[in-house]
Amino acid sequence: MFVYADNAATTQMSAAAKEALCAGMEQAWANASSLHTPGQKAREQLEAARAQIASCIGASPREIYFTSGGSEADTQALFSLARAGARKGKRHLISTTFEHHAVLHALEALEKEGYSVTLLDVHETGVVTPEQVAAAIREDTALVSVMYVNNEIGTVQPIREIGAVCREKGVPFHTDAVQAVGHLPVDVAADNVDLLSLAAHKFHGPKGVGVLYAKAGTPLSNVIYGGAQERSRRPGTENLPAILGMAAALREACDSLPENTARWTQMRDRLISGLSAIPHSRLNGDPVRRAPGIVNFCFEGIEGESLLLLLDAKGIAASSGSACTSGSLDPSHVLLALGLPHEVAHGSLRLSFGAANTMDEVDYILETVPGIVSYLREISPVWEALETGRQPHRI
Ligand SMILES: *Cc1c(COP(=O)(O)O)cnc(C)c1O
Repeated sequence: MFVYADNAATTQMSAAAKEALCAGMEQAWANASSLHTPGQKAREQLEAARAQIASCIGASPREIYFTSGGSEADTQALFSLARAGARKGKRHLISTTFEHHAVLHALEALEKEGYSVTLLDVHETGVVTPEQVAAAIREDTALVSVMYVNNEIGTVQPIREIGAVCREKGVPFHTDAVQAVGHLPVDVAADNVDLLSLAAHKFHGPKGVGVLYAKAGTPLSNVIYGGAQERSRRPGTENLPAILGMAAALREACDSLPENTARWTQMRDRLISGLSAIPHSRLNGDPVRRAPGIVNFCFEGIEGESLLLLLDAKGIAASSGSACTSGSLDPSHVLLALGLPHEVAHGSLRLSFGAANTMDEVDYILETVPGIVSYLREISPVWEALETGRQPHRI
């Protein structure tokens, strides 16, 4: 059996997305800025995709800016709001300790330019509260950025309530919704957000394409300079085939959301109860406030990397956290943000579902993981120290 359970890293393109992308390459290859007929046809398709994507998140088409993906959308969102704040003498930025590196590293770059950054604690639950945001906002706060769904542990933040606090205090609010769009109902108006990032490859669309939603009137500054594409805010000839693939994938994801949510929730809950039966294991993140498709566990006394390799040998593709940090031996900044000790954070496993996963696959995972965990513990000197009482158990 082969099980792909790493959909939070990326998803496989759906048939509908591939079809739209290929049709785009065949028929919509012209430059959407050209005045000739093929160019104008490409323009029409571009605007149809924009309208379709807008309707899936409750936006208006002119609030959609196509980007190269989630990282670019995050970067542009933060730099835009920071620059706009600085023009009014506001140089304080608020975010959280467990954001994606696209946000954290953009904030670090801004910090080097003289902005001051407050990163809110996400508690052991992996949830930020609106009260924390309210308490952190100052006279000189230029932006608040809080991710919708954490990509490693799957906790869902109270975005609507945080957005309401920001509105009341007049502070612009950005959310990295890359793991939310296509997985949860997202509505930019109801959620009180000013800027939102999404990426197609997290909902069965193509890689290298995403969207920055910017509420009308929100000041955007450029990350890329060039021509007049995307109202001059994101120059560069549009990757129309990819955009068409993204629109098709999002349409499909939104249409199948109720059904997928129900299925994933059942699968997730079975996975959580099965893995919880392994001694000295812990579910990371709030047990209730979580996205249907992401499960993250720590198993004491083992290395996440060894677990992944043995799972891979059994045909299960999973992750120990974020794809961006694998390869480095540092434990995940997200798990450390929850307050987990380094040695516990090292033994993590993230399983994340996509449209194609089934309950049979969950059962296969549950048949496979406990044996591998026991085997790794048998050969682990750390586990021996824990079991003989030379070191105290942390889980
Ligand atoms: C994947 C991801 C990103 C980065 O998106 P790319 O399209 O890969 O640049 C940003 N934020 C979160 C939460 C993600 O999961």
